[in-house]
Amino acid sequence: MTATLEPGRMLIGGRWVEAANAGTFPVTDPATGRVLATVADADTADALLALDAAVDAAAGWAATPARTRAEILRRAFDLIMDRQDDYARLISAEMGKPGAEAQGEVAYGAEFLRWYSEEACRIAGRVQPDPEGRGTVVVTPRPVGPCLLITPWNFPLAMATRKIGPALAAGCTMVVKPAEATPLTTLALADLLTEAGLPAGVVNVITTTRAQPVVAALLEDPRLRKISFTGSTTVGRSLIAQAGQHVLRTSMELGGNAPFLVFDDADLDAAVEGAMTAKFRNTGQACTAANRFLVHHSVAAEFTRRVAERVEALRLGPASDPESSMGPLIDDRAVRGVDALVQDAVARGAQVVTGGTPTPGPGSFYPPTVLTEVDPASSLVRREIFGPVLAITPFQTDAEALTLANDTEYGLAAYVFTRDMARIQTLMGGLQVGMVGINTGLISNAAAPFGGLKQSGNGKEGGIEGVSEYLSSTYTLIAS
Ligand code: NAD
Repeated sequence: MTATLEPGRMLIGGRWVEAANAGTFPVTDPATGRVLATVADADTADALLALDAAVDAAAGWAATPARTRAEILRRAFDLIMDRQDDYARLISAEMGKPGAEAQGEVAYGAEFLRWYSEEACRIAGRVQPDPEGRGTVVVTPRPVGPCLLITPWNFPLAMATRKIGPALAAGCTMVVKPAEATPLTTLALADLLTEAGLPAGVVNVITTTRAQPVVAALLEDPRLRKISFTGSTTVGRSLIAQAGQHVLRTSMELGGNAPFLVFDDADLDAAVEGAMTAKFRNTGQACTAANRFLVHHSVAAEFTRRVAERVEALRLGPASDPESSMGPLIDDRAVRGVDALVQDAVARGAQVVTGGTPTPGPGSFYPPTVLTEVDPASSLVRREIFGPVLAITPFQTDAEALTLANDTEYGLAAYVFTRDMARIQTLMGGLQVGMVGINTGLISNAAAPFGGLKQSGNGKEGGIEGVSEYLSSTYTLIAS
């Protein structure tokens, strides 16, 4: 797809360079363990060179007309869509998701470039008369400055474009650090942005196995002005603390523990369809994945029967097999983690309806699993499962359902299946989450503000809100 996915190189200051110590690391296919490529293994010195480049490019990019920035973003969108099959194959290869899901990610990920190409020219300040009659208040937006963007492995394209798109629209330069498991898509994207006309040094990509020291070195440098992080709440907490040192702006898109509520009046066909998407998309490895199925006791048996029938029809396999409808987990460690959560739930009385035992290798596969009668004290109810396990807990009353739904430190997403408008209105206000899907299992949308409450993070990505994460403002009072 690109001439520049050269072994062992990353993009710094418009040049494809090796790590200063010439180190590299392999990127593998989680479905087979096969090595796909080797990439540069950056150290702190490389990270600081990338920041130098972002700092050098900052004034020029901030002064570039919004229309020019918009047109580069739009060209990048068009280029990705021209090559959507190539991008889908790359995502499947390094992350494992089946072809149809990878195509879906390409469309979703590219949309952030188109959306922010449209937003770039709409960034506005304001002018207002001073209420005391002293003059005129002028509010001027400005880019926050050089940013560090850190992404996870579960959506290698979309998590990158969801940050890069608004940052470019706002006039910021950046250092991007993709996850160690999936750096290839980000490298390809950086190459494509160059082809779309992005000047050298505006987007710099560092790939590394040493995330902690490399990121710490950047956060210790006062020239960095912002960090936007998507990943686990544990790492996010530590980065927020480090960001305090130089009072950085932070956007944190962290973990989730989404409740999926099915009420007695729900359209069960729609609820089952929604459950399949909200639970099994990306093999359950999504921050918005439904983690806890709270089902009214009167429909719990029927919901379980129907969902188990659908789950048993899923076909586990590598993306290279067009018949596969569910891919592997990201690595063997993830398989062991999901297995431990299932064993803990079973030890606390959960019933296994289907699945429940890791699939022998090769590849990091865990079968789609349905559990019922899950004790709310089980670890998989308290923690993010990040795997294909659908855990059902029955409830009796609306009040009980809402209490259980909110009984978590997380507050990212929730799903509700009911036809009762009054109940919907109560839940829209009562659920302590940043995003709610009513009678749908898919809520991601480039036009909407994606983000969590509580320990699921701060800040929004997408929508008109997304670009404000990369903007600050200066207020001027002009005396009359
Ligand atoms: P992770 O926190 O382990 O890693 C995320 C990124 O941080 C990677 O690039 C990694 O290399 C880097 N990193 C890891 N340790 C670090 C450290 N000590 N210092 C600096 N950087 C470090 O998360 P993951 O396993 O890649 O992704 C899964 C997590 O991401 C889940 O918790 C999921 O819910 C969350 N997620 C959230 C959203 C959202 O929008 N809220 C979206 C996708 C994923």
